Amino acid sequence: MASAIQVQNLNKTFGSKQVLFNMELDVPKGAMVALIGASGSGKSTLLRHLSGLASADRTNGGTIHALGQQIQGNGHLSHDVRRIRSDIGYIFQQFNLVGRLNVLQNVLLGCLGRMSRLRGTLGLFNAEEKERALHALERVGLLEHAYRRASTLSGGQQQRVAIARTLCQQAEIILADEPIASLDPESARNVMDALADINKKDGKTVIVTLHQVDYAVKYCKHAVALKNGKKHFDGPISGLTNHFLNDLY
Ligand code: ADP
Ligand code: MG
Repeated sequence: MASAIQVQNLNKTFGSKQVLFNMELDVPKGAMVALIGASGSGKSTLLRHLSGLASADRTNGGTIHALGQQIQGNGHLSHDVRRIRSDIGYIFQQFNLVGRLNVLQNVLLGCLGRMSRLRGTLGLFNAEEKERALHALERVGLLEHAYRRASTLSGGQQQRVAIARTLCQQAEIILADEPIASLDPESARNVMDALADINKKDGKTVIVTLHQVDYAVKYCKHAVALKNGKKHFDGPISGLTNHFLNDLY
């Protein structure tokens, strides 16, 4: 099966501290993968590299490809990394919406390139973009809130707006870093349901870091576990035995 993400021998060092070691990863298109591991194991750092937001070591840094295109090699981001990044949606624990804009405008910002942000904040969208954004909001169950100020939504709703933004962006790969860490259980389920839905129905590749292993078991067929910056497990979620988990945390 074709790969969404391929990582070969990725190494990352901050100062004198190496935080990712010889990382190898091959995520097939359409997979929904849980990235788990104790706090500080390197999950966020890995995810940032996959999205082209961070560059690896200049020597022995390895390579990363997304959808067959090289994002970086030996710590050098590819010259067309911005274009490749338009295929990658990123979801943060703290939603990262523009609170003073309404929900629809926030979603629309996803389908505009960086250069068009001003057009977005001024509310200048064409009909096709608006249609796409409204459809994305419908997919995450928030159509009725399209014209509310983003900051007035609950945390779980804001996170679903962030998911709608990646849909509007038409990203093929969605990277979500602890998307449910600050949510109550019901909101967390709604957010995970929305991610699982676009994975299943739209075939989007989803890589999601999760603190709670029970959510990983419920929503993901595949898990990658990190321990102290090294890959400790990579396989079907059923292979994550208690013995293994005790060793992880
Ligand atoms: P996780 O997401 O699994 O909690 P992180 O990827 O955030 O782990 O961090 C992995 C390690 O890298 C930690 O020891 C953290 O302190 C370190 N680290 C992360 N970002 C930086 C940075 N910008 N500068 C220095 N050290 C960092
Ligand atoms: Mg983290």
